[in-house]
Amino acid sequence: MSDPFLIGRCALVTGSTSGIGLAIACALGAAGARVAVNGLGSPEQIAAALDAVRAAGAADVSHFGADLSDAAAVETMMAEVAAWAPVDVLVNCAGVQHTAPIAEMPAATWDKLIAINLSAAFHTMRLSLPGMAARGFGRVVNIASVHGLVASVNKSPYVASKFGLVGLSKVAALEYAGAGNRDSGGVTVNCVCPGWVETPLIEPQIAAKAQAAGGDRDAGVRELLREKQPSGRMSLPDEIADLVLWLCRRQSHNLSGAAIPVDGGWTAQ
Ligand code: NAD
Repeated sequence: MSDPFLIGRCALVTGSTSGIGLAIACALGAAGARVAVNGLGSPEQIAAALDAVRAAGAADVSHFGADLSDAAAVETMMAEVAAWAPVDVLVNCAGVQHTAPIAEMPAATWDKLIAINLSAAFHTMRLSLPGMAARGFGRVVNIASVHGLVASVNKSPYVASKFGLVGLSKVAALEYAGAGNRDSGGVTVNCVCPGWVETPLIEPQIAAKAQAAGGDRDAGVRELLREKQPSGRMSLPDEIADLVLWLCRRQSHNLSGAAIPVDGGWTAQ
């Protein structure tokens, strides 16, 4: 449903060619925003993502294909998006995972995960927050993870990057807390911290559990949930997108510096 306050605002959603990011891009599009889509994928996958955001009702949509592991490419992308429209809403959603014990984690994999999951968000934020403050309105929503709040084994770069993202977001929330006012919407910075969400990102982890359960995927999913997520249910990307959209509304002007778990009770334990 469109939100008069968000109609025509520019929203950049990194990692929006798939999964949670695509659902967020569609939700912001349905609210009436112009959506800058970023993410990797085949030409067909990217075209399908743009079609989905357009069909959701976006005022305009365009793809910016920067590889976020490259800081210079992020900087170029930010200049290109700003030339398209000043960024009012920034959602850092791009993320990758690799599981291995610390001693077996390749150093190059550490560098890549930190670059994509954490440093890219620093660069997009440092390049868009001053403009948001000058205009009196801005929203940064960083898709962290339950792993920004608690740890699990075999996820050293992922957990480090997500804890870092939560900390970075709190610093930015403080630095920009006084920007704008209630009517202009202010500038807020928050994290959303999902537990398990049904997307391609977690398929390798489901596959590993399924293999241990004799190839039964449903049993693999149940085992994954049983370990950590007391609700026993995965979230859907649309459900995460609903929360992100709410954080972007004018009415959320005083909610800043939070790291909101959507984890079926995982971090309540
Ligand atoms: P996904 O694999 O479906 O989507 C990841 C997106 O990031 C894709 O659009 C991909 O193209 C993009 N991306 C990856 N590397 C990139 C790069 N170098 N440059 C630009 N874009 C790149 O995964 P998802 O589950 O939708 O994950 C989205 C975010 O949600 C991630 O930050 C992830 O850590 C977080 N998250 C996911 C879950 C879950 O259970 N799925 C749980 C908690 C947090």
